[in-house]
Amino acid sequence: MSAGVSTQQRQREMAAAVAAAAATSGAGRCRLSKIGASRRPPPARVRVAVRLRPFVDGTSGASDPPCVRGMDSCSLEIANWRNHQETLKYQFDAFYGERSTQQDIYAGSVQPILRHLLEGQNASVLAYGPTGAGKTHTMLGSPEQPGVIPRALMDLLQLTREEGAEGRPWALSVTMSYLEIYQEKVLDLLDSTSGDLVIREDCRGNILIPGLTQKPITSFADFERHFLPASRNRTVGATRLNQRSSRSHAVLLVKVDQRERLAPFRQREGKLYLIDLAGSEDNRRTGNKGLRLKESGAINASLFVLGKVVDALNQGLPRVPYRDSKLTRLLQDSLGGSAHSILIANIAPERHFYLDTVSALNFAARTKEVINRPFTNESLQPHVLGPVKLSQKELLGPPEAKKARGPEEEEIGSAEPMAASASASQKLSPLQKLSSMDPAMLERLLSLDRLLASQGSQGAPLLSTPKRERMVLMKTVEEKDLEIERLKMKQKELEAKVLAQKAEDSKEKENHCPTILRPLLHRTVTVAKPLKKAVVMPLQLIQEQAASPNAEIHILKNKGRKRKVESLDAPEPEEKAEDCWELQISPELLAHGRQKILDLLNEGSARDLRSLQRIGPKKAQLIVGWRELHGPFSQVEDLERVEGITGKQMESFLKANILGLAAGQRCGPS
Ligand code: ADP
Ligand code: MG
Repeated sequence: MSAGVSTQQRQREMAAAVAAAAATSGAGRCRLSKIGASRRPPPARVRVAVRLRPFVDGTSGASDPPCVRGMDSCSLEIANWRNHQETLKYQFDAFYGERSTQQDIYAGSVQPILRHLLEGQNASVLAYGPTGAGKTHTMLGSPEQPGVIPRALMDLLQLTREEGAEGRPWALSVTMSYLEIYQEKVLDLLDSTSGDLVIREDCRGNILIPGLTQKPITSFADFERHFLPASRNRTVGATRLNQRSSRSHAVLLVKVDQRERLAPFRQREGKLYLIDLAGSEDNRRTGNKGLRLKESGAINASLFVLGKVVDALNQGLPRVPYRDSKLTRLLQDSLGGSAHSILIANIAPERHFYLDTVSALNFAARTKEVINRPFTNESLQPHVLGPVKLSQKELLGPPEAKKARGPEEEEIGSAEPMAASASASQKLSPLQKLSSMDPAMLERLLSLDRLLASQGSQGAPLLSTPKRERMVLMKTVEEKDLEIERLKMKQKELEAKVLAQKAEDSKEKENHCPTILRPLLHRTVTVAKPLKKAVVMPLQLIQEQAASPNAEIHILKNKGRKRKVESLDAPEPEEKAEDCWELQISPELLAHGRQKILDLLNEGSARDLRSLQRIGPKKAQLIVGWRELHGPFSQVEDLERVEGITGKQMESFLKANILGLAAGQRCGPS
C-alpha cells in the first residue's frame, strides 16, 4: 500500500497560486521592486529527503529489529501497525539509509540549492523529526562528522570569495544571524541580552526581524567565532527520549549580498535558512511534566500550525495560517513562498519511535506537494536612486513621516532589513531604496543602461550620473541653443542687407544703362525666373560642388520637340536664359538630389539638418527623434510621417531643397 499523499493536480495548481500570493503578500500595499516581479516565477516544489539514522548506543530498544527499512535511493517501507501482514511504502526525492554519511546528505540534497543564493534567490533547509531521530546530527554534526551547517558555510564562503574576487562583475558579502524560537519567543542567539523580537514582513513580502544581530563573515573561522558560543546559548534540557533534547527551533540565517561593480549597479540578496526544528514527538510519550510539558506544548503548537500551513497550501485554501505561530511566520517565505526549500525528515529505527516515525513520514509526504515560486531578489543600489522624487512623507523626515503613516504601514512598511552593517543604507528613505519605483520603469532604465554599456558608451552611466552633473550638462545645452539662435538672427540681418544692396545696385544699373533692358515680353515668358528664388542649395551639395568644380551635372532641356543635353559648365552666360524654352530637371539630378537629402535626413545631426531649407531647430529635433524611434527614412516623402510636419510642409521642403538644387545650377541656353 502506498501511503505517499497523491493530491489532485488542480489542488496543486491552486496551492501554487496561493503560494505565489503568499510570496508576494503585501504587494497590494506597495509595489514590488524585484526585477521582473511582474512576470510569474517558475514553480519549484519543496524537495523532501528522509534520513534513517542507525541504532545508537544508549537508546533503549537497540536490540530490537528495525521497524523501518529502505528500498532504494528514494523509497522506504515501514510496518503497518494496523495489519502486520502489510507494510506502508513511501517515496521521496531522496532516501538516506543508516549507512549514509554526512557528505552523502550534503552533496545529494543541500549543495545543489546553494548556487541559487548567488542568483539572488532564497533557499532553506529544514531538519524535521522526533527528538532523538538525528536532526541536530544532520544539521550540525560533530567535529568528526560535520553536518549540513558547517559544510554549507564552508562552500558558500568559498563560492562568494571566488565570485566576488577583484575584477569580477559583482562584489559579494556574507552575513550571519542566529536565533531560536523558544516558547513562541524569538531570541537572538548572537545577543543573549535581547528580548523577544518581532517578526515582520516588508512591502516586498520579505520576512524580517528588526533588531536581530547580523555579523559579517568572510571566513569559516569568522563563522565559528560567532556560531559556537551562540550554540551554547541554545536552550536545551533533558527528557526521557534524548539526553540533550532540543527544546527550541534553531534558525541560522546566512545572507549573501551582491553589488554590481559596474552599471547598472544592481544589488541582489539571497537568504539561506538552516533550521534545526525542535522534536515532533507526541507530547504524551515524553513523560514531560510542568515546565517541560509547557515547552513541549508550545513546540507542538508551532509544529501543529506548520502541519496546518502545509495542508492549506496543498488544498489551495484562501488563507494560509502563517501568522498562527512564530515558526510558520518565519518560514512564510520558505514554505509556499519564494525559497528553494528542502525538508530533511529524520527518523529512527527503534520500535518505540514507530508512531512518531509514521507521523513524521506522513508530514514529509504532505510537504512534498508544496510548491514554491522562487524569484530573484534584485534592485538598484541606493546611490543610483538619487533622482527619485521624494513623496511628502519622505520630505517630512522620520518623526513626521511616522505620524503620517497609518498603523498598518508602521507595522509592515517601516521594517528595515536586519542590516546592522548596512547602517548607511538605513539612513536612506524607502523610496530612495527603490521600493516604490515602478518595476516596469526600472526595467526599462536598466535595459537602456545595458544597451549604452554594450555600445561601449564612454560617458557616465545614465542611471548613475549624479544629479548635479546632469544639471550642469542641461545648462550647457541650453546656452548653446541660445547662442545658435543669436547667430541665426545675425545671419538673417546680413542676408537682408545684401538683398537691399543688390536691389539698389540693379536700380542704379537701370538708371544708367536703359538701352540694355530686355523687351518686357521676353522677360515675362522666361521660365527660369520663378526658379531663381530657389537658388539656395543644401550646404553639403554646395560644398561638394565646390570641392569638385569639374563634376558634370546635366540639365535636360526642352525646346519645342527637340531635346538636348547640355553640360552646366557650358560657357553660355545668362543673357540667353530668358529665351522661351522650358526647363526641366534631369531625372538623374533629381535622384541625386533626393539621395543627398535622404542621406542627410538619415545620417545628419540636428545641426546638419538645419542647413536644409525650411528646417529650423524644432523640426530638426523632430526628425532626429523620429529617426531614433522608427529607424532610417526610406524616402524623403517619409518626412510627412514625422509628427509636426504636414504634407504641405513636406512638399515645400522638397521644392526648396531638391528643386533648389537644380535651380542653383546655371541654366544653359538652347
Ligand atoms: P535530534 O536532534 O533529532 O533530537 P540528535 O541529532 O541529537 O537528535 O541525535 C540523537 C543521537 O543520535 C545523538 O547521539 C547523535 O549523535 C546520534 N545520531 C543521530 N543520527 C546519527 C547518525 N546518522 N549516525 C550516527 N549517530 C547518529
Ligand atoms: Mg536536536
